[in-house]
Amino acid sequence: MLKGNLFIVSGPSGSGKTTLSKNVIERLDNLKFVVSYTTRRQREGEINGIDYKFVTDEEFDQLIENDSLSEWALVHGYRYGTPVEYIELAESSGVDLIFDIDVQGASSLRTKFSEGICIFVIPSSLDILKQRLVERKTEELAEIDKRLDDAKKEMNEIRNYDYIIINDSLNEAIEHLSAIIVAERCRRERILNSSKINI
Ligand code: ADP
Ligand code: 5GP
Repeated sequence: MLKGNLFIVSGPSGSGKTTLSKNVIERLDNLKFVVSYTTRRQREGEINGIDYKFVTDEEFDQLIENDSLSEWALVHGYRYGTPVEYIELAESSGVDLIFDIDVQGASSLRTKFSEGICIFVIPSSLDILKQRLVERKTEELAEIDKRLDDAKKEMNEIRNYDYIIINDSLNEAIEHLSAIIVAERCRRERILNSSKINI
Protein backbone atom coordinates (compact mmCIF):
# COMPACT_ATOMS: atom_id res chain seq x y z
CA MET A 1 0.00 0.00 0.00
CA LEU A 2 1.24 3.50 -0.89
CA LYS A 3 1.93 5.66 2.15
CA GLY A 4 0.19 8.72 0.66
CA ASN A 5 -3.33 8.78 -0.79
CA LEU A 6 -3.73 9.41 -4.51
CA PHE A 7 -6.77 11.63 -5.13
CA ILE A 8 -7.52 11.52 -8.85
CA VAL A 9 -9.79 14.47 -9.68
CA SER A 10 -11.24 14.24 -13.14
CA GLY A 11 -14.17 15.38 -15.28
CA PRO A 12 -14.85 17.60 -18.29
CA SER A 13 -12.97 20.78 -19.09
CA GLY A 14 -14.53 23.70 -17.20
CA SER A 15 -16.18 21.52 -14.54
CA GLY A 16 -14.03 23.17 -11.86
CA LYS A 17 -11.31 20.57 -11.12
CA THR A 18 -8.48 23.09 -10.88
CA THR A 19 -10.47 25.63 -8.85
CA LEU A 20 -11.57 22.96 -6.37
CA SER A 21 -8.17 21.27 -6.09
CA LYS A 22 -6.33 24.52 -5.45
CA ASN A 23 -8.88 25.66 -2.85
CA VAL A 24 -8.72 22.40 -0.94
CA ILE A 25 -4.92 22.45 -0.92
CA GLU A 26 -5.12 25.84 0.84
CA ARG A 27 -7.35 24.31 3.52
CA LEU A 28 -5.81 20.93 4.28
CA ASP A 29 -2.27 20.09 5.27
CA ASN A 30 -0.10 17.26 3.87
CA LEU A 31 -1.71 17.60 0.46
CA LYS A 32 0.17 18.42 -2.73
CA PHE A 33 -1.04 19.42 -6.21
CA VAL A 34 0.60 17.39 -8.96
CA VAL A 35 2.05 19.78 -11.53
CA SER A 36 1.77 18.12 -14.96
CA TYR A 37 3.80 18.60 -18.09
CA THR A 38 1.91 19.96 -21.08
CA THR A 39 2.61 20.96 -24.67
CA ARG A 40 -0.24 23.49 -24.75
CA ARG A 41 0.53 27.19 -24.71
CA GLN A 42 0.75 29.02 -21.41
CA ARG A 43 -2.40 31.05 -20.60
CA GLU A 44 -2.34 34.55 -19.24
CA GLY A 45 -1.91 34.39 -15.47
CA GLU A 46 -0.45 30.87 -15.46
CA ILE A 47 2.98 30.34 -13.92
CA ASN A 48 5.41 27.83 -15.41
CA GLY A 49 6.23 25.23 -12.75
CA ILE A 50 3.22 26.13 -10.57
CA ASP A 51 0.22 25.52 -12.83
CA TYR A 52 1.97 23.32 -15.40
CA LYS A 53 5.45 22.64 -16.65
CA PHE A 54 5.21 23.97 -20.21
CA VAL A 55 7.34 21.99 -22.65
CA THR A 56 7.85 21.67 -26.41
CA ASP A 57 6.77 18.61 -28.40
CA GLU A 58 10.41 17.49 -28.57
CA GLU A 59 10.80 17.81 -24.79
CA PHE A 60 7.61 15.80 -24.28
CA ASP A 61 8.93 13.05 -26.60
CA GLN A 62 12.05 12.94 -24.44
CA LEU A 63 10.00 12.63 -21.22
CA ILE A 64 8.17 9.62 -22.69
CA GLU A 65 11.42 8.05 -23.87
CA ASN A 66 13.04 8.49 -20.44
CA ASP A 67 10.05 6.90 -18.62
CA SER A 68 9.59 10.17 -16.73
CA LEU A 69 5.77 10.06 -16.83
CA SER A 70 3.37 7.90 -14.77
CA GLU A 71 0.77 8.42 -17.50
CA TRP A 72 0.17 10.76 -20.40
CA ALA A 73 -2.69 11.51 -22.79
CA LEU A 74 -3.65 13.60 -25.79
CA VAL A 75 -6.34 15.97 -24.52
CA HIS A 76 -8.08 18.54 -26.76
CA GLY A 77 -5.15 18.35 -29.22
CA TYR A 78 -2.25 18.73 -26.75
CA ARG A 79 -0.25 16.27 -24.69
CA TYR A 80 -0.41 16.23 -20.89
CA GLY A 81 1.52 13.94 -18.54
CA THR A 82 2.11 13.25 -14.86
CA PRO A 83 5.73 13.35 -13.64
CA VAL A 84 6.73 10.03 -12.12
CA GLU A 85 8.54 11.61 -9.16
CA TYR A 86 5.25 12.46 -7.41
CA ILE A 87 4.43 8.79 -6.95
CA GLU A 88 7.92 8.28 -5.51
CA LEU A 89 7.25 11.19 -3.15
CA ALA A 90 3.92 9.70 -2.01
CA GLU A 91 5.72 6.40 -1.41
CA SER A 92 8.61 7.84 0.55
CA SER A 93 7.07 10.76 2.47
CA GLY A 94 3.41 9.82 2.86
CA VAL A 95 2.17 13.12 1.40
CA ASP A 96 -1.31 12.91 -0.19
CA LEU A 97 -1.48 13.92 -3.86
CA ILE A 98 -4.19 15.57 -5.98
CA PHE A 99 -4.05 14.75 -9.68
CA ASP A 100 -6.12 17.11 -11.83
CA ILE A 101 -6.26 14.97 -14.98
CA ASP A 102 -8.57 13.95 -17.80
CA VAL A 103 -10.61 10.72 -17.88
CA GLN A 104 -7.97 8.84 -19.95
CA GLY A 105 -5.25 9.70 -17.44
CA ALA A 106 -7.54 8.73 -14.57
CA SER A 107 -8.14 5.35 -16.21
CA SER A 108 -4.36 4.76 -16.64
CA LEU A 109 -3.59 5.68 -13.02
CA ARG A 110 -6.48 3.51 -11.76
CA THR A 111 -4.99 0.54 -13.63
CA LYS A 112 -1.51 1.16 -12.21
CA PHE A 113 -2.54 2.13 -8.67
CA SER A 114 -5.74 0.37 -7.70
CA GLU A 115 -5.79 2.19 -4.36
CA GLY A 116 -6.23 5.57 -6.14
CA ILE A 117 -9.41 7.39 -5.11
CA CYS A 118 -11.28 8.60 -8.18
CA ILE A 119 -13.44 11.71 -7.95
CA PHE A 120 -15.55 13.00 -10.85
CA VAL A 121 -16.41 16.72 -10.92
CA ILE A 122 -19.36 17.97 -12.96
CA PRO A 123 -21.85 20.86 -12.79
CA SER A 124 -25.52 19.89 -12.92
CA SER A 125 -26.02 20.86 -16.58
CA LEU A 126 -24.24 21.30 -19.90
CA ASP A 127 -25.50 24.91 -19.99
CA ILE A 128 -23.62 25.72 -16.79
CA LEU A 129 -20.52 24.00 -18.18
CA LYS A 130 -20.73 26.09 -21.34
CA GLN A 131 -21.23 29.30 -19.37
CA ARG A 132 -18.13 28.53 -17.23
CA LEU A 133 -16.00 27.90 -20.31
CA VAL A 134 -17.27 31.04 -22.03
CA GLU A 135 -16.64 33.16 -18.92
CA ARG A 136 -13.17 31.65 -18.39
CA LYS A 137 -12.25 33.21 -21.78
CA THR A 138 -9.32 30.83 -22.37
CA GLU A 139 -10.69 29.17 -25.53
CA GLU A 140 -12.40 30.34 -28.73
CA LEU A 141 -16.08 29.42 -29.21
CA ALA A 142 -15.29 26.60 -31.69
CA GLU A 143 -12.87 25.08 -29.17
CA ILE A 144 -15.50 25.41 -26.42
CA ASP A 145 -18.03 23.55 -28.57
CA LYS A 146 -15.49 20.76 -29.09
CA ARG A 147 -14.91 20.54 -25.32
CA LEU A 148 -18.68 20.33 -24.74
CA ASP A 149 -18.91 17.47 -27.25
CA ASP A 150 -16.03 15.75 -25.43
CA ALA A 151 -17.86 16.33 -22.12
CA LYS A 152 -20.77 14.17 -23.30
CA LYS A 153 -18.35 11.32 -24.08
CA GLU A 154 -16.48 11.79 -20.80
CA MET A 155 -19.79 11.34 -18.93
CA ASN A 156 -19.73 7.66 -20.03
CA GLU A 157 -16.78 7.18 -17.70
CA ILE A 158 -18.63 8.33 -14.58
CA ARG A 159 -19.45 4.78 -13.47
CA ASN A 160 -15.75 4.08 -12.90
CA TYR A 161 -15.47 6.73 -10.19
CA ASP A 162 -15.72 6.36 -6.42
CA TYR A 163 -17.19 9.81 -5.77
CA ILE A 164 -19.11 12.45 -7.72
CA ILE A 165 -18.99 16.15 -6.83
CA ILE A 166 -21.72 18.33 -8.35
CA ASN A 167 -20.03 21.69 -8.66
CA ASP A 168 -22.84 24.25 -8.75
CA SER A 169 -22.16 26.07 -5.49
CA LEU A 170 -18.38 26.45 -5.24
CA ASN A 171 -18.38 26.54 -1.43
CA GLU A 172 -20.43 23.36 -1.21
CA ALA A 173 -18.18 21.60 -3.73
CA ILE A 174 -15.07 22.62 -1.75
CA GLU A 175 -16.71 21.21 1.40
CA HIS A 176 -17.46 17.94 -0.41
CA LEU A 177 -13.94 17.49 -1.77
CA SER A 178 -12.46 18.26 1.66
CA ALA A 179 -14.89 15.80 3.28
CA ILE A 180 -13.87 13.02 0.86
CA ILE A 181 -10.18 13.58 1.59
CA VAL A 182 -10.69 13.66 5.34
CA ALA A 183 -12.90 10.54 5.25
CA GLU A 184 -10.30 8.62 3.22
CA ARG A 185 -7.64 9.63 5.73
CA CYS A 186 -9.79 8.08 8.50
CA ARG A 187 -10.07 4.66 6.83
CA ARG A 188 -9.37 1.86 9.31
CA GLU A 189 -6.58 0.27 7.24
CA ARG A 190 -4.83 3.62 6.83
CA ILE A 191 -4.91 4.35 10.56
CA LEU A 192 -3.85 0.82 11.59
CA ASN A 193 -0.99 0.80 9.03
CA SER A 194 0.31 4.07 10.43
CA SER A 195 1.80 4.71 13.85
CA LYS A 196 -0.95 7.16 14.82
CA ILE A 197 -2.35 5.02 17.67
CA ASN A 198 0.03 4.14 20.45
CA ILE A 199 -2.06 2.12 22.92
P1 ADP B 1 -11.31 22.78 -15.03
O1 ADP B 1 -10.01 22.79 -14.25
O2 ADP B 1 -12.16 21.60 -14.69
O3 ADP B 1 -11.12 22.93 -16.51
P2 ADP B 1 -11.70 25.41 -13.82
O4 ADP B 1 -11.34 25.14 -12.40
O5 ADP B 1 -10.72 26.15 -14.68
O6 ADP B 1 -12.15 24.05 -14.57
O7 ADP B 1 -13.09 26.18 -13.81
C1 ADP B 1 -13.68 26.67 -15.00
C2 ADP B 1 -14.18 28.11 -14.76
O8 ADP B 1 -15.34 28.06 -13.94
C3 ADP B 1 -13.17 29.01 -14.07
O9 ADP B 1 -13.28 30.31 -14.62
C4 ADP B 1 -13.62 28.99 -12.60
O10 ADP B 1 -13.28 30.18 -11.94
C5 ADP B 1 -15.15 28.84 -12.75
N1 ADP B 1 -15.78 28.07 -11.66
C6 ADP B 1 -15.40 26.89 -11.14
N2 ADP B 1 -16.29 26.44 -10.23
C7 ADP B 1 -17.29 27.38 -10.19
C8 ADP B 1 -18.51 27.49 -9.43
N3 ADP B 1 -18.91 26.55 -8.57
N4 ADP B 1 -19.27 28.57 -9.67
C9 ADP B 1 -18.91 29.52 -10.58
N5 ADP B 1 -17.77 29.48 -11.30
C10 ADP B 1 -16.97 28.41 -11.11
P1 5GP C 1 -6.41 22.62 -19.44
O1 5GP C 1 -5.62 22.77 -20.69
O2 5GP C 1 -7.80 23.20 -19.57
O3 5GP C 1 -5.67 23.09 -18.20
O4 5GP C 1 -6.60 21.06 -19.20
C1 5GP C 1 -7.17 20.25 -20.17
C2 5GP C 1 -7.40 18.86 -19.61
O5 5GP C 1 -6.15 18.19 -19.40
C3 5GP C 1 -8.10 18.86 -18.25
O6 5GP C 1 -9.11 17.85 -18.29
C4 5GP C 1 -7.00 18.47 -17.28
O7 5GP C 1 -7.50 17.81 -16.14
C5 5GP C 1 -6.19 17.53 -18.15
N1 5GP C 1 -4.84 17.29 -17.62
C6 5GP C 1 -4.03 18.15 -16.96
N2 5GP C 1 -2.88 17.55 -16.61
C7 5GP C 1 -2.95 16.27 -17.04
C8 5GP C 1 -2.07 15.14 -16.97
O8 5GP C 1 -0.96 15.18 -16.43
N3 5GP C 1 -2.51 14.00 -17.55
C9 5GP C 1 -3.71 13.90 -18.16
N4 5GP C 1 -4.05 12.72 -18.67
N5 5GP C 1 -4.57 14.92 -18.24
C10 5GP C 1 -4.20 16.11 -17.69
